[in-house]
Amino acid sequence: MTSPIDSFDQLGLSAPILEALAGIGYETPSPIQAHCIPILLEGHDLLGQAQTGTGKTAAFALPLLNRIDIKTAKPQALVLTPTRELAIQVAEAFQSYAHNMPGFHVLPIYGGQSYGIQLKQLARGAHIVVGTPGRIMDHLERKTLNLDSLQTLVLDEADEMLRMGFIDDVEWILEHTPSTRQTALFSATMPEPIRRVAQAYLREPREVKIKSATATVAAIRQAYWQVSGLHKLDALTRILEVEEDFDAAIIFVRTKTATVELAEKLEARGYSAAALNGDMNQQMRERTIDQLKSGGLDIVIATDVAARGIDVPRVSHVINYDIPYDAEAYVHRIGRTGRAGRTGNAILFVAPREMRMLRTIERVTRQPITPLTLPSRQDVANRRVAQFKLRVIETLEAEELDFFSDVVGEIAEEQNVGMQEVAAALLRMAQENRPLQMEGSDPLPRPAPAEDTRRPSRFGEREARPQREDREFRPQREDRPRRDDSEARPSRPAPAGDMIRYRIDVGRDHGVQVKDIVGAIANEAGIESRFIGRIALYDESSTVELPAGMPNEVSNLLKRTRVRGVPINLRPDSEQREGGWKKPEGAAPRKFGGEGKFGDSKPRRRKPNE
Ligand code: ADP
Ligand code: MG
Repeated sequence: MTSPIDSFDQLGLSAPILEALAGIGYETPSPIQAHCIPILLEGHDLLGQAQTGTGKTAAFALPLLNRIDIKTAKPQALVLTPTRELAIQVAEAFQSYAHNMPGFHVLPIYGGQSYGIQLKQLARGAHIVVGTPGRIMDHLERKTLNLDSLQTLVLDEADEMLRMGFIDDVEWILEHTPSTRQTALFSATMPEPIRRVAQAYLREPREVKIKSATATVAAIRQAYWQVSGLHKLDALTRILEVEEDFDAAIIFVRTKTATVELAEKLEARGYSAAALNGDMNQQMRERTIDQLKSGGLDIVIATDVAARGIDVPRVSHVINYDIPYDAEAYVHRIGRTGRAGRTGNAILFVAPREMRMLRTIERVTRQPITPLTLPSRQDVANRRVAQFKLRVIETLEAEELDFFSDVVGEIAEEQNVGMQEVAAALLRMAQENRPLQMEGSDPLPRPAPAEDTRRPSRFGEREARPQREDREFRPQREDRPRRDDSEARPSRPAPAGDMIRYRIDVGRDHGVQVKDIVGAIANEAGIESRFIGRIALYDESSTVELPAGMPNEVSNLLKRTRVRGVPINLRPDSEQREGGWKKPEGAAPRKFGGEGKFGDSKPRRRKPNE
């Protein structure tokens, strides 16, 4: 079903309700809302079928509120929900939609709560009662709940109530409420018993069924992340950082408020992001889109309506931060990427209760959506370090550094510390605005995706699943051991075992810098830079710490190694200089570079003789 209505204003709702919706940030009615609200406002019975997450609550709550007589503090509407959680959730939704209706009272009633409290609350009076069938039945039998003024009865998630064995209670309630009532039945599916209830108790119901047409989405890689353990925002920033071919993204959320909030949060994290929503006038929207086109903006956070028709070829990613109402909306959303013959990426955040919607989308688009394993903190740190390193290398190669080099040298000398420590301090300062390490911790590994819990194998164990199929998104990470993700791992492993201090015959007088020494040793002797310990520069010579037990071939190689054309003549350092540097107590030897930190790509240090 498609609907021409794209504004709540067109539905005939009262001003206080429209204001409340504006406050919450709902921009347009979802399809089920656009269809059901007018029908319910007109007083018809209704049979509404739409998937979870499509906005069914507001579809019945808004027209109910519209018709409530605040002066009559008697239940005028009753909503039956399968669970206590849903009863509370629906009551909260009523409360928020009734924000501008002073004196309005909604009461959730469910099993497990003391009768004493409920009796008190019932005595105080409520305009709308939301409850689970068993407890509502109890109160009706005890005559502690009087439904004489009831105008509307809503059965929310009817199929779920059936599944949980409440159908008899529901029928009993239907029989014990005024036959003049309006009845609305909402369900994600329409199994036979529900249809039967509808036939028996609804009067000439209008039927609304939100179903999506199939659609094709070619050249787009689709993945989903099941929301668990981490906040969506954290998940989002991790994904943004490690996605390989990231250029620009459109992030979809449900509310105007969320576009602004998320834009602000991303900006605060250093992204160039902006909101795009229906509150902005045409000119502002166009400016935002132009900025996205020209690269002035990388991320736009949009609602469905605002993003309609956007055609920006550099959008490499569409992120469904909030799941869309239906597969059709999903197809529209992800159609914003993969344009002009490029490949696009679509990532969907799915709450456990939205897994069914995910399956529908897969069915409708006839494309699998593969689970995405979230990058670990280590992945993100590696990426940030790699990027930082690139900038350092560029600066080394392209910039005039003499002045800075002198300052660094002065600091090292005055403080009697090695260049590495000075560099570390500078690095720490340089990354303050965008720290290289992530805060927080990784969520515990999720044992299995939710679909497994929905389809437990016959023996109650989880089936062994093949490794997640997210290779396309993050190719080389699959073979990392899970342990890498844990916090326990120090940011850099210290060189194992003892270190021996060697002396070499090059020093400051030769114009040598620490990086030359590291470069020479790493390149000539093939010692990974992370195994190179502390280096101290003196005028005519220097010392360097290397792992004990160096093979003869290696030490022979190093004896012949040259730095700046000078043979270094590496030998164990026997002199313990008085005025020399002291090893800081208890400190692990300091190292340069190192693959633990900088990934596999070796820093392109200049060859010693260049
Ligand atoms: P359902 O009952 O169909 O599972 P809900 O009523 O629980 O769906 O709504 C799912 C989510 O969508 C809720 O967070 C709700 O606030 C949000 N929502 C509902 N209608 C709108 C709308 N018109 N615009 C934006 N968000 C909406
Ligand atoms: Mg619902």
